[in-house]
Amino acid sequence: MKNPLPTAIIAIFVSFSIFWTSSLLCAARGKESLDSFKADAERALGIPVRIVETDQTGTAMGQTFCETQEVLIQIQPGLETELHKQVLAHELGHAILCATGIRTYLKPTQRGSALSATILPLIAEIGSCYIDPLADAEAKRRGFSPDVAVSELVRRTKKHTPEEVHTFVATFGDRAIDFSGVALYCTELRPHSFPMRDLSETFSVEPRINEKFQNLKKVLGMPGCSDATSCFLLTKHLRDTLSLQDLILIKNPQSGSYQ
Ligand SMILES: [Zn+2]
Repeated sequence: MKNPLPTAIIAIFVSFSIFWTSSLLCAARGKESLDSFKADAERALGIPVRIVETDQTGTAMGQTFCETQEVLIQIQPGLETELHKQVLAHELGHAILCATGIRTYLKPTQRGSALSATILPLIAEIGSCYIDPLADAEAKRRGFSPDVAVSELVRRTKKHTPEEVHTFVATFGDRAIDFSGVALYCTELRPHSFPMRDLSETFSVEPRINEKFQNLKKVLGMPGCSDATSCFLLTKHLRDTLSLQDLILIKNPQSGSYQ
């Protein structure tokens, strides 16, 4: 069944006021600071950072792959200039974090693999939940505005009608509840300038989604991590709170084993 909701909500988790001046000087300044951010990341990593525009990001505006030979950043094509800049700054934040080992490796269990259509979006959301605020902080430290990207994700999500939300849950069941609840929880951890109820109202037609969101806040609080181990532990706690141990495995950065 074709359902637009999962993909659009996916945009929340993966991984955006505007200076509507057409000043060339302004555009050049923005590019310079992105260039120096990229150079910082390459120095820290000791390998090149390659940036490509590709529709392989799906509905995510950007994603970063920390590989051994290079770090690959993919950006959704067609983003307007300011949004493109802020999305790229967030992804360069991920690249810098890769150099410190702050990234998460998640994979589905055998049982989870059979449910890949619903598990893979959840993996993306859970894996980036506690790292996205750190990538935002790296961007903000360099003068970028990560809330621009978050606002765009929220704008896209709020376009869903109650009927679409209902169909999403009717089609994907508990995983749709998990996914939407986690997306709300993780969005609140990121810099934003809107009341969360503006977003959670979108899901009011399915009360279990907001119940999941509130339960995650109650159990987990709103913590942050600061290194590979603390990010792993928080991510694992999030997965366990969702009772997804039999579907999703997370790599322990110290032992190298998937748990
Ligand atoms: Zn991210």
